[in-house]
Amino acid sequence: MNQQLANYLLKGGRLIDPAAGIDGQFDIRVRDGKVEAIGAALESNGATVIDVKDKIVTPGLIDVHLHLMKGLGAFGVDPDVFGVGSGVTTVVDAGSAGHTLLDVFRNFVTNNAKTRVLNYINLSTLGGVAGPGFSILADPRLIDEGKIADAVEANRDMIVGIKIMATGGALGAQGLKPLERARKLGDELKLPLLVHIGESWTKGTEPVAVGDVLKYLRAGDIVTHMFTVHPGGLLDGNGKLWPQVRDAKTSGVLMDVGHGLHNLNFDVARKVLDQGLHPDGVSTDGHRGNRAGPVYDLPTTMAKLMALGFSLTQVVEMATVNAAKLLGRANELGTLKIGARADISVFKREDREWNAVDSQKGTIPAHQVLTPVYAIRGDSIYEPLPVERP
Ligand SMILES: [Zn+2]
Repeated sequence: MNQQLANYLLKGGRLIDPAAGIDGQFDIRVRDGKVEAIGAALESNGATVIDVKDKIVTPGLIDVHLHLMKGLGAFGVDPDVFGVGSGVTTVVDAGSAGHTLLDVFRNFVTNNAKTRVLNYINLSTLGGVAGPGFSILADPRLIDEGKIADAVEANRDMIVGIKIMATGGALGAQGLKPLERARKLGDELKLPLLVHIGESWTKGTEPVAVGDVLKYLRAGDIVTHMFTVHPGGLLDGNGKLWPQVRDAKTSGVLMDVGHGLHNLNFDVARKVLDQGLHPDGVSTDGHRGNRAGPVYDLPTTMAKLMALGFSLTQVVEMATVNAAKLLGRANELGTLKIGARADISVFKREDREWNAVDSQKGTIPAHQVLTPVYAIRGDSIYEPLPVERP
């Protein structure tokens, strides 16, 4: 059950805050919804004690890629489902709204959510209106730089970048021209580009080579679906990283998981990871169509990365400080600060053998399960919504 509580002490948990270099048994005392003290064996000083013994406590987890415009097509999901209903305090919509829908997004999604909701504005005016698989960038009139700039300036607090579908299907006859326009716009507005790779929705279309896409990206831009098995991914026909991928990573282009219905493939992931390319962000690409599997929630996606060889600390780092940096919000998110409004995730780690399932129904053995316990924002403590986890 969700509770409202101004003063409380999270007692006995293992606190992992990679940005602060903390990993150990520490308590957190919250007063008037703000972090008052972090330390070993803190006194309650009149605050309600919440026992989190044997639980993992972290800065609020951040899921950097989802589809959150509830009611929009087959995908839009209530942000609190993958957000505070999944132990996550910040969720980011990846391009559901183009500039014409930005106010609708703010009024009906961000302002109504219990979870913090940020947003990538879609380069195409159509955004997610048509659903996947449409040539949303093929008509040059569907990109309106002036209107996008106006929407961004009016919503800087919410917008963290510009979303581009870099697929043959979406770009159509325009080829790489929309990427050129996105590059210019990103520079002018000082916003990163979030680029979808992988011809997952438009089979049979001539894919765009990732090397051609990466030419338009710079430090701080993000490639999502780094483990996609679909044409246009990071690997060449021999399973080797395209050389431009390594160069991009070295130059500071960030890589995000973006699990989704189609784009987490364990074979691809193993090949990419074996060649030394690691994710900067871990995200679900969560929407209405993958909540009941194969995605479930961010903790399960984190556990899948652990099955691929990452440690608990590494996946926490991805979902906190690294995610905050990727969003350009490292000054306000991703680490615990005395005096700041409480923004905390609590979850449980258990040793259990299970089969992690990818987007193509491939499996790998997994040994640890992560399940959310609380998402905490200020004086509000949320328990997870039910989901049938694997
Ligand atoms: Zn997506």
